[in-house]
Order: sequence, then C-alpha cells, then structure tokens
Amino acid sequence: MTVLLKIYGLVQGVGFRPFIKRIATAMKLDGQVRNQGGIVSITVDADNERISEFVSRIKTEKPLGSIVERIEIQEVDGPPFRGFQICESNSLFDKELSFVPADIAICEECKKELFDGNARRYGHPFISCTGCGPRFSIINALPYDRKNTTMNSFEPCPKCQKEYAATGDFRCHAQTIACPDCGPELYFNGSRDNAMEHVIAALRNGRIVAVKDIGGYHFVCSANNSDTIKRLRDIKNREAKPFAIMFSSMEEVKKYATPTLTEEKALSSGERPIVLLKKRKALTAGICDDSKYVGAMLPGNPIQEMLAAEFAGLIMTSGNISGEPIITDDSQMSEIAVQKDMDVLSHNRLIVTPQDDSIVKIVNERTMIVRRGRGYAPLPLDIENFDAEPMLALGGDLKASFALASGKRVILSQHMGDLEDVASFSGYKMQLEHYCELFRFMPDKILCDMHPGYFSRGLAENMPSNVVEVQHHVAHIASVAAEHGLDRYLGFAFDGTGYGLDRAVWGGEVFCADNGKITRKYHLKYYRIPAGDESARDAANLACFYLAQAGIRENINPLVLAALDANINLVNTSSMGRLFDVVSALAGVCSYNRYEGECAMKLENSIAEDDGFKLKFEIEDDIIVFDSIIRDIYYAAQNGIKTGEIAHAFHSAVKEMMLEIIAAEDCDAVAVSGGVFNNSWLMEELLKEIPEKLFFNEKVPAGDGGIALGQLYAKERGYELCV
Ligand code: ZN
Ligand code: FE
Repeated sequence: MTVLLKIYGLVQGVGFRPFIKRIATAMKLDGQVRNQGGIVSITVDADNERISEFVSRIKTEKPLGSIVERIEIQEVDGPPFRGFQICESNSLFDKELSFVPADIAICEECKKELFDGNARRYGHPFISCTGCGPRFSIINALPYDRKNTTMNSFEPCPKCQKEYAATGDFRCHAQTIACPDCGPELYFNGSRDNAMEHVIAALRNGRIVAVKDIGGYHFVCSANNSDTIKRLRDIKNREAKPFAIMFSSMEEVKKYATPTLTEEKALSSGERPIVLLKKRKALTAGICDDSKYVGAMLPGNPIQEMLAAEFAGLIMTSGNISGEPIITDDSQMSEIAVQKDMDVLSHNRLIVTPQDDSIVKIVNERTMIVRRGRGYAPLPLDIENFDAEPMLALGGDLKASFALASGKRVILSQHMGDLEDVASFSGYKMQLEHYCELFRFMPDKILCDMHPGYFSRGLAENMPSNVVEVQHHVAHIASVAAEHGLDRYLGFAFDGTGYGLDRAVWGGEVFCADNGKITRKYHLKYYRIPAGDESARDAANLACFYLAQAGIRENINPLVLAALDANINLVNTSSMGRLFDVVSALAGVCSYNRYEGECAMKLENSIAEDDGFKLKFEIEDDIIVFDSIIRDIYYAAQNGIKTGEIAHAFHSAVKEMMLEIIAAEDCDAVAVSGGVFNNSWLMEELLKEIPEKLFFNEKVPAGDGGIALGQLYAKERGYELCV
C-alpha cells in the first residue's frame, strides 16, 4: 500500500530530507520526500510493519537540531514508486503556523574544514552544512529552499552541485552550500584582495572595523586597547553600558570568568548567545568596569572563527548607533564608516532579517533570556493547552517584539529595540510585514498595550482587525503563566513603567489570578513624580521628590517643593524600578541612568554582607508602603552606614515583603515578571526561599521583550482585570 506521512515540527533547514532518503534507502523503501509549505511530506510504498519501523527510525534517528512534533499518516492512492527521491518542494501550506529554522552556529565539522589547509573550503568564510549556518536571516519565503534565500544569487559550481546531490555527504541538500569558487565573497573597504588579512592587520593597529556577518554588522575592535574602546564608545554614542567580548575559546573565557557547566553549555550552544558571567578578573578599562558580570560569547560563524584564530578577545558589539537598529545595509554602513573613520568588512550576500545577538544569564542552573534574537527567533514557543484564533500581539514600545499565534502555536519575533526611535519603528513595521508573508498569517485580532502614547498601539488602531488592549503588567505575569501553564497564581509584576488602568504609571503590582479573573490585590504606594522620560533617568532629582513625600523637606530644592505643592505636571507612580533608582541615588551608589537599569544594576553590584542594618516595607490596606524606607536610608547615608549595607538591607526588604504577601495569600504558584527580576540577587534568594512555588520567564525575556506572549495568553485565557 501507499501511505502519506506528514511530519510537523522543525524539519526544514536541518538536513531532514537527505536524512529521510538515507533511512528509506537503507530500508529499501520506494517513495519520495519533499518540503511541503512548512512541513515535510513523504510518500512510501510499504506494509504496516515496515511503516511503523520507518516512523520509529525517523523519531529516534532524526538529525541534530530538528524537532519532530508529530507525524500524521494516511493511506493514499498512487502509482507505485521506483527507488527513493527527494522531489521539488511545493507551497501547499497547512493552516498551522510553520516552523522556520533559526540561524545555527557553525558546527564542529565545518570548523575543522575551515582550518584544514587541504580542504576545499579552507578559509572559506561562508562554509556551512545541513546542520549549521544562517537560516532565518537569509530566508525570503518558505519552503526553505535555496531559491527562497539570499543564496539564490550564487550559482553552485559543479563540485558543490555534486556534493549537494550525493546521498551520505553531510552537505547533501544543504541549501547554503558554497565554496571559494562559487560562494559569496568578502570585501575590505570595497576591495576583494586579501580582505581577511587586511581586517586582521587593521584590528592589530587599533582600528575599529564594521564586520558584516550573519544577522547584521558588528563593530569589532581589540579588547586590549582602552583608547580604541573609548573611540568605539564615541562612535556608538554609548557612554557606559558594558560591551560584550568574543573570546577565542573556553580557556580564554575562564581567564576572566568562572562559568558553571550550564553556562559553558549555553556559551557553546547552537544559539551561541552572549552569556552574562560572573567576572573573576578585571578586563581592559572601558569594557565593563562597573559590572560584576562580563558578557561573553564564543565565535558563532566562520568569519568570527577566523578572527578568533588571531585574537584571544575582541569587542563584538551590535553595529548600530545607540538606540538605532542593527545595520544590515552595505551602503548605509559605508557612509557611517567614512564619517566615523572605521574600516568595513562586508560581503555580497544580502541579509533579509536583521538579528541582534541574544543575551542570556543562568540563575541557579536555569536560563533566563535577557534579549531574544539570533538563534532563538523565530522558533515557536510551546504553550500548554493553548488554542488561539489567529492573533497578532504587538508587545510594547520598549524592547519591542511582536508575536503571532494560531492554534496551539506562538511565534515571538526577535528583539527590535525601542520604537520611539524612527528607524527602529520602521524596522519593526517591515518585520511585521515580513513575518505575516513568511508565515502566511492573517490575524483576526490585534493585541496591544494600553499606553495611549505607544507607537505600537497607534499601529494597532490603524489595522483593519479588532483591537484588544491588554494592561502592561497583566501581560507581564501572563507571560510567565503561558510558559508554565499556570491558571491560579499570585503574580508579581515589578518593572519601570507601564500604563495603568487609572492612568498612573504602574510598576509595583501584585495580582491574584484565578482562571482568568485577575485582581490587582496590592501595589506600591503612589508617589508623585515629574511626567516625562527624564524621570526614568535622573534618579537624583527623583530622590528629591521621594524624600519630600516621605516627609523630609529639609535641604530639598525649593523648585521640587513648589512643584509638589502646586501639583504641576506630576503623575502618580507605583513603579518598583523607580524605587530602585531612588534608593541607588540616596545610598550614594548611582544617581543617573546613562543606560536603562544602570542605577539598579550598580545597587545590586554593591550589595555587601548583612551587617545588621534593616529596612522594612509596611503593608497597610493592601498598599505597600515604603515611606520609612526612604527616611531610614536618608539618615543611614548621613550617619555613615556603608552603601553596601544599605543595598543589602533594601534588597532583603523587597524579598521579605514578597514573602510576607506570599504567606498571606497562601497560593501554590508565584509568578514573577518585569525588568526588576533581571536582578540576580533577588532571583537567587527567592529560589532559595520558595523553590517549588516560584515561576519565572525562561523562554522569553522578563522585561518588555516578553509581553507580546503575555498579551496572547491573556486574551486566549479570557483574562479580565478587576481593580
Ligand atoms: Zn556545518
Ligand atoms: Fe514592563
């Protein structure tokens, strides 16, 4: 009999068809295999017994990196087959959202060949195979075939064609197959001559080079030269935010940090993210001076491998000017390079989807994704018992990312920066269009944040579908519920800014969630702060407003007092992020956020051993009151209590307040989300105290990069927020 097998899952771009051909041939089965839309379909002639053997071999021997979600089998009519062929793909799409493969870091075999003087692809910066290389960044359309990628402008040479066709070759049916004779080429400042040698010389001479690789340009320079690093900061207009380093090997990583086994695994995973590691030794001035952490990565593509062979450590930072999207366009980059006196290593393969490096950190052996980009997007997220009509969630304006849902599948886009930047917003709109075309997606509903000033919300209103608003912090906790399948839980949403139902700036919220009924049970006491973005930066000024409202009016700038007394241009806030800023300023740790979270990060970094100094939140009628904390810190700082002790006391107070609420609410599950929970100290302590009950974001960021998922889940589960 003839049967049709449809294989759902991550089965394109991972060497699946040659694998099927290999086992079919080994089993002497006649039939054919093809990419069909976003799935793989196989037709074979066989009896029941051989089919079940075939299916079980598919499941157990499947290629590394592939995911077999399910296999549908049906009997069909058809003429008998002779032999087993890989056939031309077709574009018959299922209703279900397809798996589109993410970019995969260079594999060991390709790496070996890259440095093997006798290999045909020795030193070829575009070496890849069925198991590694660019995918999502170069895919124009599905199915994943060469003609649908930006490799389509490179005609494979006869040798590559032969390898492509040879069953058993690890480049059999590698869509990105190429070699020095037929593949893309590197250009150094526009010239093809010895481009790689010129780059290496330039980096040795302290130059900054814009290097185009998989998902966009990186700005690259020596990690040993503080003058160059300072120039890089000027070019990027990035005063202080730490830079990540690409180390040449794990041994080099270990000179500066102490990665655990889990962290080592993350560093060398196919996603190849930047991993935030505890620093063990200072790095060159200007890289990450004030941080306890170093952002480390290992080379993830052939160009990076070739650079790593020459340099033990290189600064590798997104090629953009602070706040703007990563650059992928060659002419734009050349212009900037001329202005900023940089060199450029480019190549002639187009990038369809810009992708920043992903950033992860490991807390108690569990992964938290700080920024979700290359390697992770656009792989679907598995949500338990999820069944959605086609919906598009636009997320928020900060750390923007959107998400598509249909049926049980959710696809979260890569990180795209802040939408208040004009270029980021237009990039976001382009990506939205690209995703909808790629996944053949037409939403019935659009979900967005409630913030009336958000560009994403403005965009939603201009779309033809029904718009549903989801409150920012409800989306935060719902993102955790989505990841862990929670229905009844206590949700802490602690972050910087989110628009509240009463138009206040929320950010210190505690919700009780009971099967869709969401109650805002507790929140931080409202303090009035100046309206506008500067309040999120100028912590010293904010501290004056907090002191005055906590009852300390001596030595406060009269303008602040006047503004408070006349209530001019002020908004109410319950933001926990702002409270961290104020505490950081009052403790004398940091008084201005040059980049998001700087004050809070430095406060966390300054935590010292417990020395007896205590602070405490009061809970009065479900309001979390911190007036005495403000006053106590003010006097403690005046009386010479060390900043580290104040930092410790404040962090402990936040933890104790949470535990007090958790005890009072007697709930089995506690979900925490929002940027504040990027705080490792707090996460580690909570994991010590309530390891069984604590749920947090592991697959999407705890910050605003994860709220699109929460918006979808809140809608699908029919969340209703009662105040
Ligand atoms: Zn490979
Ligand atoms: Fe938020």
